[in-house]
Amino acid sequence: MTTLTPILTKNWDRSDSFTRAGYERDGGYRALRNALAMEPDAIVQAVKDSGLRGRGGAGFPTGMKWGFLPPSSPNPRYLVVNADESEPGTCKDIPLMMANPHVLIEGIVISSFAIRSNHAFIYVRGEVLHVIRRLQQAVAEAYEAGYLGRDILGSGFDLELVVHTGAGAYICGEETALLDSLEGFRGQPRLKPPFPAVAGLYGGPTVINNVESIASVPSIVENGADWFAAMGTEKSQGYGIFSLSGHVTKPGQYEAPLGITLRELLDMAGGIRNGHRLKFWTPGGSSTPIFTDEHLDVPLDFESVGAAGSMLGTRALQIFDETTCVVRAVLRWSEFYAHESCGKCTPCREGTYWYKQMLKRLEAGQGEEKDLETLLDLSDNILGRSFCALGDGATSPVVSSIKLFRDEYLQHFEQGGCPFDPAASTLWG
Ligand code: NAD
Ligand code: SF4
Repeated sequence: MTTLTPILTKNWDRSDSFTRAGYERDGGYRALRNALAMEPDAIVQAVKDSGLRGRGGAGFPTGMKWGFLPPSSPNPRYLVVNADESEPGTCKDIPLMMANPHVLIEGIVISSFAIRSNHAFIYVRGEVLHVIRRLQQAVAEAYEAGYLGRDILGSGFDLELVVHTGAGAYICGEETALLDSLEGFRGQPRLKPPFPAVAGLYGGPTVINNVESIASVPSIVENGADWFAAMGTEKSQGYGIFSLSGHVTKPGQYEAPLGITLRELLDMAGGIRNGHRLKFWTPGGSSTPIFTDEHLDVPLDFESVGAAGSMLGTRALQIFDETTCVVRAVLRWSEFYAHESCGKCTPCREGTYWYKQMLKRLEAGQGEEKDLETLLDLSDNILGRSFCALGDGATSPVVSSIKLFRDEYLQHFEQGGCPFDPAASTLWG
């Protein structure tokens, strides 16, 4: 039985967890002092050895990404923290920044020192004003204490940290669109390669990491790479925050080693709401193919979820019970993608629009069986043909739901309408 490993989340219930004093009382910024006495390359090596993989969804090895920075460049190096958390169901970085912004700041200073960057940015969603204020307050506290600015703790290392707010576009969570937005342009993905590690912000070598990835760095420095690598599975090491939402008794963030199962997490979260049973769920947000109760024992690590036909993604476990119409859920997600498509490439711009139109008709019982083949054909023309991951992600709920719940789609045509009572589901506002 896997148990929870509260590390990032351990003090979230303390009333002063977000203050510098509260963080320091619990050993906060100790790892920074240790790190500043280390060789920067030794920190990069520790992060590599820990096996930490990007916690923003893609799971790319963090230390390896840092290692891609060219040894010399005429431009400054940058560290950019992607705090534009927007994937439907994903709610880990925002609570983390609210409850413990200083662990992120400590991680930023250590990581910047490791990659030899003197300029760092936190790019945060513009809609979350409370988070922006909290970050700004914490950054000001860190400057006051000498954790940021010139000659940090007498080490000779300088770092300027800027909190930059986006304007509420999901696409600005895509790392190169984020860079465009940060530079003051409309956020649209850039062609890769070059990857940001080589040519990123203002053309300079740039490391872009998710909030949770960077916040994990202080504990790796403090406890050692082996400590981190001992948790999780062979190829998905360490712990992560799993966000449970929807029809679950105790929704929230559960921090656990990678490889835990939904069955185990549900045991801790009080199970499916009273009197109901699991129908379908997302392992990592709406961009990952849905699972059913047959997947309750799939270890939630990158490899096992992939082998079972989905992706670990952002570990956003959206739980739906038997009162939920899967067609309606997929329509909701498709409306989101159609709204958020940046419009740069045709397969995604047109495809997500047609998803929305077709699913609306199907959900209202006005479609016919051959529409399902059209939807799958449309998906084939989006998946792998879109410029960035948004288009690919939009196909996941559509294709997986048709595969797993074809009968439910058919029921809509047969009955001439949705067979579910929207009021029973509690999810539709
Ligand atoms: P990706 O696999 O293309 O890249 C992952 C990271 O590795 C990037 O930082 C990229 O620059 C780097 N990288 C990959 N190959 C490289 C190379 N050869 N050299 C240097 N760097 C390299 O994935 P992506 O498009 O950045 O992200 C997609 C993921 O984002 C999805 O899996 C989804 O789960 C996640 N996502 C998260 C949110 C959220 O709110 N957190 C929202 C949408 C999507
Ligand atoms: Fe824009 Fe969608 Fe194309 Fe990405 S896939 S570039 S979001 S239109």
